[in-house]
Amino acid sequence: MKIEIRDLNKIYPNGNRALKNINLEFGHGMFGLLGPNGAGKSSLMRIIVTLMKPTSGVVLVEGKDIQKHRKEIRAMLGYLPQDFRFFTALKTWEFLDYSGSLAGMRNRKQRIAEVDRLLDQVGLLEVRDRKANRLSGGMKRRLGIAQALIGNPRIIVVDEPTTGLDPDERIRFRNILSTLSQNDVTIILSTHIVGDISSTCQGMALLNRGELVFEGKPEDLIRHAEGHVFRMNLTPYEYEKAKERYNVISTIPVDAGWEVQVVSDDVPEFEAAPIIPNIEHAYVYYMEHKMHAELTE
Ligand code: ADP
Repeated sequence: MKIEIRDLNKIYPNGNRALKNINLEFGHGMFGLLGPNGAGKSSLMRIIVTLMKPTSGVVLVEGKDIQKHRKEIRAMLGYLPQDFRFFTALKTWEFLDYSGSLAGMRNRKQRIAEVDRLLDQVGLLEVRDRKANRLSGGMKRRLGIAQALIGNPRIIVVDEPTTGLDPDERIRFRNILSTLSQNDVTIILSTHIVGDISSTCQGMALLNRGELVFEGKPEDLIRHAEGHVFRMNLTPYEYEKAKERYNVISTIPVDAGWEVQVVSDDVPEFEAAPIIPNIEHAYVYYMEHKMHAELTE
């Protein structure tokens, strides 16, 4: 499924400009949308799933304007909203069965078979008879993804799926998504957690204050930070000086002081060795350093 976002703007009635002239394009596989809280990710997701209209601009799915083909688009969509909750006391399997009916699965026998297949896929088959609102936080999120998957959607939109999950559940969730992305589906994942964006994302975008500040592969973002992350060993006195001047991203106590990592274009005052950046370093470089440099140019 090819998704094109053209000149998209969203201004809320109170004047908040949540999206500013966004242009993006992606195909099948996993696409990560990263940005701090308030960046505009949920607004963009709500527009893509046709729950909200943009102020201007269009979203095209296979060349079709989603606003003009809402019914058709909704039939191929699965959505896990950020604030996914259960308002019922249905059992886990009953909740999913109900979601299947809503997604248009009429044949009860096929639906029940699909419910159990999905519960198995997300690791909830053993708790299928437990009340959905009695599941743990991680299990609820997994039931959320199962409800987004029922009915065989071609486009799956998940908004902040790992917020509030412990590391185990986060990894598990990521694995479920990356397995899915091997099928011929388009997954759009929004997150403010840099670690959620992995090499399994074919593409990613970085949003900040409603603006698109980066679009490309996670490796491209990392490449931008190459030569801008340094490690050095500092005395306590030097460390105080370094903190004033540089963007310190990690500090580890060593014998005589600190081993410090900083993001910077160069480090003239200290003896510093460049290190290979990871995606977290790249994010800091992009958001704080590069953008600050552009603003003050
Ligand atoms: P994110 O998902 O990245 O945290 P949001 O899309 O939720 O970002 O929010 C983007 C901006 O739009 C923020 O400034 C937020 O306060 C504002 N916003 C979000 N929803 C509304 C709304 N219903 N009414 C007014 N402003 C909103």
